[in-house]
Amino acid sequence: MAEMMATRAAAIAADKIEAFRNYIDGEWVDGGSGEWLDNVNPADTSDIVGRFPASTAEDAERAVRAAAAAFAAWRKTPVTARAKILNQAAGYLEANAERFAAELTREQGKALNLAKDEILRSAQTLRFYAVEGQSFTGEIFPQDDANMTVYTEREPLGVVSIITPWNFPVSIPARKIAPALITGNTVVFKPSSDAPLSGYRLTEAFVQAGIPKGVLNFISGRAGDVGAAITTPPVVRAISFTGSTAAGEQIHRSVGITTRTQMELGGKNPLIVMDDADLDQAVDLAVKGGLSLTGQACTGTSRVLVMREVKAAFTDKLIARVKALKIGSGMAAGTDITPLATARQLETVLRYIEIGKREARLLYGGEHLRGPGYDSGYYVSPAIFSDVTQEMRIAREEIFGPVLALIEVTSYEDAIRKANDSEYGLSAAIATRNPKLMHAFARDIESGTVKINRTTTGNLINAPFGGLKRSSTSTFRESGRAGLEFYTQIKTIYRGV
Ligand code: NAD
Repeated sequence: MAEMMATRAAAIAADKIEAFRNYIDGEWVDGGSGEWLDNVNPADTSDIVGRFPASTAEDAERAVRAAAAAFAAWRKTPVTARAKILNQAAGYLEANAERFAAELTREQGKALNLAKDEILRSAQTLRFYAVEGQSFTGEIFPQDDANMTVYTEREPLGVVSIITPWNFPVSIPARKIAPALITGNTVVFKPSSDAPLSGYRLTEAFVQAGIPKGVLNFISGRAGDVGAAITTPPVVRAISFTGSTAAGEQIHRSVGITTRTQMELGGKNPLIVMDDADLDQAVDLAVKGGLSLTGQACTGTSRVLVMREVKAAFTDKLIARVKALKIGSGMAAGTDITPLATARQLETVLRYIEIGKREARLLYGGEHLRGPGYDSGYYVSPAIFSDVTQEMRIAREEIFGPVLALIEVTSYEDAIRKANDSEYGLSAAIATRNPKLMHAFARDIESGTVKINRTTTGNLINAPFGGLKRSSTSTFRESGRAGLEFYTQIKTIYRGV
């Protein structure tokens, strides 16, 4: 550790670590504190990807003021001109996809192929909203007066703050920023300090595309320093946040009634395995849904509710599959399980594994991996727990790591009751061949996303996304056309002659 710190200090002193800046009011600028936050490679913690400003509240206030000043002109900019900027930014992401994907893997840890998919998906998101935003209009209402037209117009809200996590550091910002901009809002964007480079590249894409000054502002920093400055001023008319339930609820409570919020929060997503399921497919759903991205997807499967009749066979197949998974750096081809993204994630996941060992039965894995290739990163082998019951913490609390809790169920009704016995409701899946159960599940499950013979993870750009219960605010969905609604308000106009 001492050696690692010394290497880092030497690299900073020799100025080998690239310093990135905020983007405020059309300029790349240093933070006011002069302090920096290291962006650490989770596969090799001696590798500092870059350093980003630990911005101050004053920096953040300046970003909000810049966005407010830019609003009047941006809302009047023709939608076709706004769409052109989105398309050009998409082109920049596509042209640099290989390089940005390598950076994403280096800062966040995920496998390189997934990182590249994420960059390209973000570009697609921009292109989707460039088109969709141009046909997003109000309505005309039939009425009795021949000399009057009654219609609605959708107009932008004003300044919106966009606050994002580290797990999808470019696609989540893209799915928020694109609909905000195309509808004429101006943006203050704060990425997670644990993976800010990908959000920085997205900002750079808009800058390259010629976004006018003040329309998009990028500010890095600690939530404690900049959070309130970008969420609580009344001029901030909307906040789109993705992150933990605790932080999202805190922000939601802190704002006034004139600030609209869209909070995409945590999950404890169940997969139900019925006794008629194709067990190989069900195992695939558990492994891909629960362990890809090292369990760090908000929609990742964390509970597997499996029918008693097939539990033994399912468990055997699951363990065999998990044993064969390759654990290593995201840069190596064919890696299935990459490191956890941060030291904090490592600590949390290991803590829950210890809790799980006391509460339930650890069938496989759950080790903090050591040895060549592992020592320098945050590596944990996937943990499979059996004999998990509803009251256990590993059945109730979001872990956000490669940990699967197997819960035995005795009927469809028992499975639904247990699946719904959660404060979360983000995504849920069932493995079954029975069409009646498929239908019933879609109706009975308390979840914003419902998957039938598909992984709990994964959602389309053009379909709405969001959760129920404490997984989201009960307000607006994001993604698809629904994503545009959040960023616009309706005016009803009665026009006589
Ligand atoms: P986090 O809540 O710690 O941080 C998310 C972002 O919010 C970061 O940019 C952080 O700096 C900022 N933030 C935190 N507190 C703030 C405050 N008071 N004011 C302003 N900004 C604040 O979450 P994380 O660890 O980065 O991400 C993991 C969490 O995100 C998990 O709970 C996961 O389920 C959730 N998540 C949800 C979705 C979804 O769509 N529902 C998607 C991905 C991740």
